[in-house]
Amino acid sequence: MIYDTIFAYHARKSAPVAGPATRATGQATAGPLEWRLSQKDVLHVWSARPRLSAGLHRAAEAAGLRLARLRADRAGLEEFLARGGGLLLLDEPGQQQRRELAGLLALGRAVVLEPRAEVSLTQALNVGQSFTHLLLPRRNLAAALAAALPLAQRLLENGPDICGLGQWGVDAASHLGPLLSFAAKFQVADYADEHELFESVTNFLCQRLPFERAMLFILEHDGRLMLRALSWPGGDATRLRRALADQPPALDGQTPEYELFALGRALPVSPEHNTFFPPAARAMLRGGEVALAPLYADQEMLGVIAVDHAGLSGEVMSEGELALLETAAAMVGALINNFKLFRALEGKAAELERRLRELTVLGQLTRVLNGSAGPDEMAEAMLRVVADELGATYGFIYLLDEETRRLRMISRLNLSEAMVKSWRVIRGVNPEGLEKAMDQLSSDHGRLKSLVGMPLPGYYGPTVLRAIHSRRKIVGLWGLGRENGAPEFSADDTRILAIADEQLGVAVNSLRLSHMASTDGLTGLFTRRHFVDTLEHELRVARYLHYPLSMLLLDADHFKNVNDTHGHQAGDEVLRALARVIVENIRSSDTCARIGGEEFAVLLPRCQQDQAFKLAEKIRRKVGELTVIYNEKQIKLTISLGVASFNPGDEPSIEEVIRRADLAMYQSKAAGRNRTTVWVKEPKKASGGRR
Ligand code: GH3
Ligand code: MG
Ligand code: MG
Repeated sequence: MIYDTIFAYHARKSAPVAGPATRATGQATAGPLEWRLSQKDVLHVWSARPRLSAGLHRAAEAAGLRLARLRADRAGLEEFLARGGGLLLLDEPGQQQRRELAGLLALGRAVVLEPRAEVSLTQALNVGQSFTHLLLPRRNLAAALAAALPLAQRLLENGPDICGLGQWGVDAASHLGPLLSFAAKFQVADYADEHELFESVTNFLCQRLPFERAMLFILEHDGRLMLRALSWPGGDATRLRRALADQPPALDGQTPEYELFALGRALPVSPEHNTFFPPAARAMLRGGEVALAPLYADQEMLGVIAVDHAGLSGEVMSEGELALLETAAAMVGALINNFKLFRALEGKAAELERRLRELTVLGQLTRVLNGSAGPDEMAEAMLRVVADELGATYGFIYLLDEETRRLRMISRLNLSEAMVKSWRVIRGVNPEGLEKAMDQLSSDHGRLKSLVGMPLPGYYGPTVLRAIHSRRKIVGLWGLGRENGAPEFSADDTRILAIADEQLGVAVNSLRLSHMASTDGLTGLFTRRHFVDTLEHELRVARYLHYPLSMLLLDADHFKNVNDTHGHQAGDEVLRALARVIVENIRSSDTCARIGGEEFAVLLPRCQQDQAFKLAEKIRRKVGELTVIYNEKQIKLTISLGVASFNPGDEPSIEEVIRRADLAMYQSKAAGRNRTTVWVKEPKKASGGRR
C-alpha cells in the first residue's frame, strides 16, 4: 500500500503524457523483483567510531538487515564498491572521510543512509544515477531505517528513475523565465510577514506558472500540514480552508507521498489515489490530478505546495509541469528560508543593539562606582550617566529615614532652586505604604503623579520613579524626568533603569551607611567620628591657607540630676533642645557634633579666639534662658564650656586640639560650672562671661 503511489507514478511515466490519464496501477511491479545486487540485505557500515552502538545493532536487526562493518578508510569503500555496492550506513564520518566518500561513490552504485540529529523526516541530500544520499532522523533510528529501507532497495534496483528526474517539456521550459525572475526580484523587505510571502507564492504559481489553483501547507511539529495560503479563484475558498483546518493532511513515515517527498520530488495524485487530502477537501478538488511538491529549507522539510488545473475531470499533470513545480518548490523553499534567516538576524541585531546599550551603561556606571569620588559625587555622577542615556532632563535621589519618616533629597540633576527648596525633604512618609505604592508603580507609571506626595510637578513631562532597596527593604527613591511632550519611557528604557537600580543602589547604600555613621540618632547632629574627620580636614585647610581655627567643647551641668528628677526620657528631650540651641547659633560652615552623652563639640573654622569666646558665651546665655517643658514640668539647664583656638603657625595635632578644649572645659567645671574658659598655655578661668 505504501508504495502504490510510487509504483503508480513509475508506471505512469511509461504511459503517454498527453490525452486522458491512463493509469496502469500496479502493472509495472508485476513479477518477481530481481535484485541486481548481491548484497541487498547487508547494511554496510562505514563508521569513524571504534565500536558500533547498540542502538545501531538494534535498528538493523529490527529492519531485518545484517550489519557488516567496513574499514573506515578509502580502502574500505573501494572494496565495498568493487563488490557491487549496496546499502551503506554512514556513522558519524569526519570531514576528510566525507570528501573521500563523495568522489568515490560517483564510481559505484550505492544508497547512503546517514542518521542526523537535526533531521526530523527522512530526506535526500543527493539523488543521482550512481548514488543517493538519504538523511535519516537519528531519533528513533530503527523506525526510520525500516521506513526508508524499501525505498532504498528500490533505488538500488532501478536508480533514481523510480521518481523521475524531471523531463522538461517545451511548454514547461518556457515558464522558467517567470520563475527565475520571481527569484531574482525577491526582496525580504517587500514582505511584512511570512503570511504575505506565502500568499505571494500561491498567487505566483497560479498567475505566472501554468497552474490554476495553488495551496501552501506548512509542516507543524506533530507532522500535520496546516494550510497557510490558498489561491482558489472561482471556488469556495472559505469552505476549503475550513475542511483543511478540521482535517489537515499529515506527513509521517506512513504517508505514501512521504517517500517521494523525502527525495524532494514532485508527484501527481489522481482523484482515485488521493490519500493526501482528507475526504471533505478531496470532494472539493473534484476530478483532475493534483501535483504535490515538498518545500525544503536547508535540509529540513518545511511544508508542501499543491497545484492543480481547476479540477477538470481527466486533467493530468505533464512531466514538464511536475518538473516545473519541483523546481518552483525548491526555489520557494530557499526563499522562505532566506526570509526566516533574515528575520531572525534582524531580531538578533536588534537584541544585540539593546544588549550593547545596556552593557555601555553598565560599564559607565561601574567606572563611576570604581572611581575615587566620594559617595555624594558618585550618586550624582551615576544619575547623570543614566539621564544622558535615556534623554532625561532632570533627576533626583531620595534617602528614606524610617525613624523620622522622611525622604531627604541627597542628589539632584537640573532641578531649580525653588524645586529643591520645596521638595528637599518630604515628611510624613509611611514606609510600608511606600513599599506598596512602588510595587504598583512598577507596572503602572501612569499613576506617578498621584503618588505619596512625590515631587513631580505637572510642568514636567514623562517621569519614572524607582525604588532603591537594601536587603529587600526600600531605603530610597530615585527618578528621572523628560521634558514636557517627550516620549514616555519604553520597555527598553526600563531595562536600562533596572540596571541603574542595581548600580545606583550600591552607591546610595554606601552613602546611606556613611550618613548613618556620621549622624547621631538622638539629636541629628554629627557623630564624634565625623567630627574628628572634619577636624582633621579643617586643620589641614587652616594650616595651608593660614587661617585661624577654634573649637568649643560644652558639657551639661549636673545632667545626672535631670535624669534622676524627671526621668531619662525628659533628659533626652533636654539634650535635643540643647542641640537645637547650639545649631541655631552657629554658622552653616561650622560643624556641631554630639561627642559624648551630654557633651557637645563645635568646630569653628576661620574663627579667632575672641570671636569663639563670644559665641561660647552667647550659647551659654541662650541655654540659660531655655526652659524645657516635659510632662508639664519645667526643666532648666546650664552648660560649662571650653574654648581652644589656634593661629597660623601653631600646628597642633588633632588630639592636642581636643585635649586643650577638654582642659578648658574642666576648668569651667572646677570653677563652679555655667561658665566659659579659654585655653591659654596655662589654662585660665573666666567666670560669668568674663575672663
Ligand atoms: P557634671 O556637671 O559634672 O557634668 O555632672 P553630670 O551629672 O552632668 O555628669 P556625669 O558625667 O556624672 O553624668 C552625665 C549623665 O548624663 C549621666 C547619664 O545618665 C546622662 N546621660 C548621658 N547620655 C545620656 C542620654 O543620651 N540621655 C539621657 N537622658 N541622659 C544621658
Ligand atoms: Mg555633665
Ligand atoms: Mg559629661
